[in-house]
Amino acid sequence: MRRTHELFRRAFGPYVPHTIAIVLLAALGSAMEGLGISAIVPAFSFAGGQAGTAADAISQIIQHLFSFIGLPYSFRFLLFFMGVLFVLRTVLVLVIQYVTARIVYGYERDLRTTLFGNMVRAGWPFLSQQKVGQLDQLLITNTTNTSQFFNFISTLALIGTKAIAYIIIAINLAPTVAVASLLAGLVAFVGLRPLFSAAKAASVRVERLNRGMAHFVSQHVGGMKTIKAAAVEEPVERTIGEFFESIRSLFVRMMVLRGTTETLVRLFGLGFVGIVFVVMYQTPGFNIAAFAVIVYVINQIFSQVQAMQVQMHALSTMVPYIGSVFAQVDDARANREETGGGPMPTQWETLAFDHVSFTYPGRERTLEDASFEIKRGGIVGIIGPSGAGKTTLVDLLMRLFDPHKGEIVLDGVAARTVSRTAWRTQVGYVAQDSFLLNDTIARNIAFYHACSHEEIVAAAKAASVHEFIESLPQGYETVIGDRGVLVSGGQRQRIALARALVRMPELLILDEATSSLDSETEAAVHEAIDTLRGKTTIIIIAHRLSTVASADELLVVEKGRITERGTPEELLKNKDSYFAKAYGPRA
Ligand code: ADP
Repeated sequence: MRRTHELFRRAFGPYVPHTIAIVLLAALGSAMEGLGISAIVPAFSFAGGQAGTAADAISQIIQHLFSFIGLPYSFRFLLFFMGVLFVLRTVLVLVIQYVTARIVYGYERDLRTTLFGNMVRAGWPFLSQQKVGQLDQLLITNTTNTSQFFNFISTLALIGTKAIAYIIIAINLAPTVAVASLLAGLVAFVGLRPLFSAAKAASVRVERLNRGMAHFVSQHVGGMKTIKAAAVEEPVERTIGEFFESIRSLFVRMMVLRGTTETLVRLFGLGFVGIVFVVMYQTPGFNIAAFAVIVYVINQIFSQVQAMQVQMHALSTMVPYIGSVFAQVDDARANREETGGGPMPTQWETLAFDHVSFTYPGRERTLEDASFEIKRGGIVGIIGPSGAGKTTLVDLLMRLFDPHKGEIVLDGVAARTVSRTAWRTQVGYVAQDSFLLNDTIARNIAFYHACSHEEIVAAAKAASVHEFIESLPQGYETVIGDRGVLVSGGQRQRIALARALVRMPELLILDEATSSLDSETEAAVHEAIDTLRGKTTIIIIAHRLSTVASADELLVVEKGRITERGTPEELLKNKDSYFAKAYGPRA
C-alpha cells in the first residue's frame, strides 16, 4: 500500500494542481446537482399549494438565494432555477471531460517522451540486455494505462463530490437516515477490500504476461523465415497460445471479481432502502415528498459508492502498469550514457589500444591486454576464430563499452576524455547484418544525418550501389521493406556502406560486412576501400583472406588476445602462425 502511495506521488506528484482543478470543477457540478435535487422538496410544497415553504435548511437557503438575486419565489421560477442548474451541470461535465482529456493526453505524451528519451540515451551495455518488444509494450500500453489515472481522478471526483452532495442533502432532510446510510456505505466499502486485493494481484500477472507476449511476438515476427524453414509453426503457435490462454483466464477472473463487488454493493443498497422505507413509513408526520427524495438520495449514495468501487478497482489494476513504466525509466536513467567530454582531436596521427582489457558481466575475460596502433589513413585487418573477441574490440573502439583496464588513446589523448557523441560522429560502422529502415533508400543512406542529395549520391557511388539504385523505377525514392527484405543482402550491405560513408568518417569499421556475401559485393566494397585508402582509417574484421589481403597490417585475435600481427606476407612466413595455418598455401 505504502509503495503504491509512493509510486503515485512519483508519477503524479507534479500534477497536484491539475488534479485539484478537476476536483473543484467536479465539486461545483455536484453542488449544482445537489441544489437542483433539493429544490424538489419546496417545489412539491408549491405543487401542494403551500407557498413553497419547507423546514429544511437547504430549502431555506434557496429561498434566501431567490430574494438575494431579486427573483420572485414562485413555482415557475423554482422550476426554471432547477432547469438552469441541471443544464449548467451538464455543460460543466463537458468542460471537465475536456480539461481531463488535455491532461491525460499531455501526460501520455510527456511520459512517452521521458521513457523513449531515457531509453535511447542509455548505454549500450544496458540496451543490449533489453528484450525485444518490451519497450513497445511499455510505450504503447503501459503509458496509456498510466495516463488514464487522470480519467479515474476525474470520474472519481465527479462521483465523490456527488456522493458528498447527496450525503449533505440526506443530512439536511433526515439526519439519522443519513448517518445510518453513511455507516452502511462505509461497511460495504471496507468489507469489499479483499476483492480489490485479488483483482490487483490478477492485474500484476496480466501486466507481466502482456510484456512477455509482446516480447515473444516481436522475437518470432523477426524470425518468421526461420520458423517457416524449420516448419515449427505449430509449436510456436502452441507456445503463444499459452500466453493467450493465461491472459484470457485472468481477465475472466478480474471480471468475476469486479462483477461480484458491484452486485454485492447493489444488493446491500437495496436491502438498506427497504429498511429505511419500513422505518420511515412507521414514523408519524411522514412526508411523501421528503421520503421520495430520501429514497432517491440513498439510492444515489449507494450508486456512487458502487461506482467508486468500480473506479478504485480499475485504478488498482493500473498500478502494475504504472510501476513497470517508472521502473524502466529509472533503470534507463541509471544506465544513462555519459556523453560529456572534450572535442575530438582533429588531424590526429595515431589511434592506439594501450593494454586494453574487457570482460562481459559473468563471463571469462573477453579481451585481455590488447595493444596496437593504427596510423591515420591506415588499413588494419582483424581476423581470428569466431568468439575470439573481434566484435568486442570494435565495440570498444566505438566506445559502446568502456575498457575495464587500459586505455584507447588518440595522439596521447585518452578516448575517455572525449565526448562520445563527438567521437562517434567520426566513426562509420557497417555491421554484418545491417539494419535498414522501412523507408526510402535516400533516407536510409542519410539516416537522420543532415546531408544533401548530391552527398547521398556521392556516397552511393563510392559504395558502388548508385547504378543499382538508379535502375529502380523510383530510384533513390524507392521504399525498402521492413528489415530491407526488398533488396538482396549484397545491396543492403552496400546501402549500409553508403550510409557510413555519407558521414565522411575519420574511422571506418567494417565488422564482417561482406563475410556472408558474394564476391561481387566484396569486390565492390574493396573498390570503395581502395578509393578511401590514405584518406580514412579503416578497420576490417573478416573471415576471408581476400577481404583483408590489402590491409597494411593484420591483427590475429584468439581467445581475447592479440596473438599475431604484421603484414600478410610477414605472417605467412611463420608456418606455425594461426594465419599461415588458416590461410597459408596448404590451408
Ligand atoms: P567475435 O567477434 O570474435 O566472434 P565477440 O567479440 O563477438 O567475438 O565475442 C567474444 C566473446 O564474448 C564470445 O565468447 C561471446 O560469447 C562473448 N560475448 C559477446 N557479446 C556478449 C555480450 N553482450 N554479453 C556477454 N558475452 C558476450
